Amino acid sequence: MTMQRRDFLKMVGAGAGVGAATALTGCATQQAAGGGRKVVVIGGGYGGTIAAKYIRMMDKSIEVTLIERNDHYISCPFSNLYLGGILPDLSKLTIKYDKLAANHGIKVVQAEVTGVNAAERTVTTSKGVFNYDRLVVAPGVDFRTEEIKGYTAQTPEVAPHAWKAGPQTILLRKQLEAMKPGGTVVLSIPLAPFRCPPGPYERTSMIAMYLKQHKPGSKLIVLDANPDIVSKKGLFLKGWKKHYDGIIDYRPAKKVTEVSADGKSVLIEGIDEVKGDVINLIPPQRAGAIAVSAGLVGPDKNWCPVNPTTFESTIHKNIHVIGDACIAGAMPKSGYSANSEAKACANNIVNLMNGRAIVDFSGINTCYSFLSAKEAVEVTGVYLVDKEKNVIIAAPGSVGVSPDLSETEAIYAESWLNNILTEMSS
Ligand SMILES: Cc1cc2nc3c(=O)[nH]c(=O)nc-3n(C[C@H](O)[C@H](O)[C@H](O)COP(=O)(O)OP(=O)(O)OC[C@H]3O[C@@H](n4cnc5c(N)ncnc54)[C@H](O)[C@@H]3O)c2cc1C
Repeated sequence: MTMQRRDFLKMVGAGAGVGAATALTGCATQQAAGGGRKVVVIGGGYGGTIAAKYIRMMDKSIEVTLIERNDHYISCPFSNLYLGGILPDLSKLTIKYDKLAANHGIKVVQAEVTGVNAAERTVTTSKGVFNYDRLVVAPGVDFRTEEIKGYTAQTPEVAPHAWKAGPQTILLRKQLEAMKPGGTVVLSIPLAPFRCPPGPYERTSMIAMYLKQHKPGSKLIVLDANPDIVSKKGLFLKGWKKHYDGIIDYRPAKKVTEVSADGKSVLIEGIDEVKGDVINLIPPQRAGAIAVSAGLVGPDKNWCPVNPTTFESTIHKNIHVIGDACIAGAMPKSGYSANSEAKACANNIVNLMNGRAIVDFSGINTCYSFLSAKEAVEVTGVYLVDKEKNVIIAAPGSVGVSPDLSETEAIYAESWLNNILTEMSS
């Protein structure tokens, strides 16, 4: 408490002027009204770490508790490069939370969140109950495995999704390594929306690269439930023709609906069987389970509707949902989007808790994809709220893709990863 007050006075003394005076008034109002100054953040990934950090950077008088089930986080961005054999392991993609706690005074709790009581403003975890004044929910995605017949708790052990980086990614790489030359890999892509629109096509490129280099005569059958390549189509097709002609067999509009118990075959629409030595089965997705059990998903039962400026749930007050779990209009479900949404959400949480006016949303996203060891491509967009429709749209003229496969983009991509992971962990 003493620490908070000292930090707060430092902020006022630092000459924040009118803003600081308003903050002081707002703070007093919150306390007089009986409201505390507590924010709880669920999920220490691309969205949650940044929301927690920016709230503390903007107002040290707010106590922030970040609750994450793991003691470390492994980035999905660049995990396809590990499958391609470019990265030897996942260490470059792994961050810890100790500096985030030490540098910003965030209380990091390693625990499983098991429930949210919106009326009581409490979060129940494996390590006790936490009160909040505002809650940020950033749990990423979970899988709609019930839509695939035969899918059990054992299926990911035989037909890994590797759509959450970590043990699943390592398992898939081991399966690729163990496969005999001349074998068949099957990659199944679910219907959009899913985490990272270009991700499955980057994975196609990276697995094909691995097969070309290490498993001569092998092929990769891509079963895409979507009618066409969802993102950067022209660039992916160009890269596949240039590097992996004869290796990739891309089949659009092929929705996998069933998997065998041994994970070695899938059925398309319950009829056509496709067999593989390795099957990378990515199930359809929805918001992380805790968002579903907290009643934050909308009528589609999958994703969380939010106010596009504050990211406050349109279902439960004082709960904000960011990242993959929320419906962010035209913004893709990406790490960069989650980062952008987290900053805007943090800013407006601080504004709301201090009785200040909220500010308009402005977001950015860039998604890099590798086509080979040295070439990458990108799609970039700037996002804002269409106030008439109350939905996030791409700023007119802002969305663009790389003109071609580019070695420079690969360098930019690496720099992006280093920057964003450093921001999340320091
Ligand atoms: C193969 C692949 C490649 C990708 N490449 C890119 C890329 O190049 N660029 C890009 O921008 N994006 C990329 N993405 C997408 C990116 O990974 C996600 O969009 C991003 O991780 C979303 O952030 P998030 O905070 O919503 O969720 P996450 O980053 O998944 O974080 C959620 C966190 O919440 C925790 N959690 C969930 N439930 C609970 C609970 N009940 N209790 C405690 N903790 C909980 C989880 O353990 C996790 O740490 C890629 C994704 C994949 C799969």
